[in-house]
Amino acid sequence: MNSEQRICQNCKQSFIIESEDFMFYEKMKVPPPTWCPECTNVSFSLNLQNCMDCFGCVNLKNKQHCIFNEQYTKEEYEQKMKEFDFGSYSFVQEMKKKVSELSLKYPRRYVEGLNNEQVVGDYIFNSKNVAQCTEVTDCENCKPPIEISKVLPMYASCT
Ligand SMILES: [Zn+2]
Repeated sequence: MNSEQRICQNCKQSFIIESEDFMFYEKMKVPPPTWCPECTNVSFSLNLQNCMDCFGCVNLKNKQHCIFNEQYTKEEYEQKMKEFDFGSYSFVQEMKKKVSELSLKYPRRYVEGLNNEQVVGDYIFNSKNVAQCTEVTDCENCKPPIEISKVLPMYASCT
């Protein structure tokens, strides 16, 4: 499936769903998002599917107004988010640490990938003989520091 431009059902702005994302949604058996990434308002979170207005959550599906995996009402969520000091470096570091600790309590996939052969790395799709790379697609015989034939824009990294 090719990447597609969609219109956000909330803000009516266009956004792109990449072909790799379609494969991911298909694999996870969830529908593609109807809201753009800005409108879903998820931050400091890990492995959320079809969630919006969530902060510091791990492994949630189809949720809204959650903070550190606890469900709040819309009003409670908005009040708590107002109390957070996102301008503070120490606050951000504290939140990162808290999410990291929370994430250890939940199972996590060893790797995300699809249609691969002989690959080592995370978020690799339709590739063969790839090592030490993350978020790449349609690659063959890629090992750092050689060039990658096709990568997801802005996300690719080889270490
Ligand atoms: Zn939107």
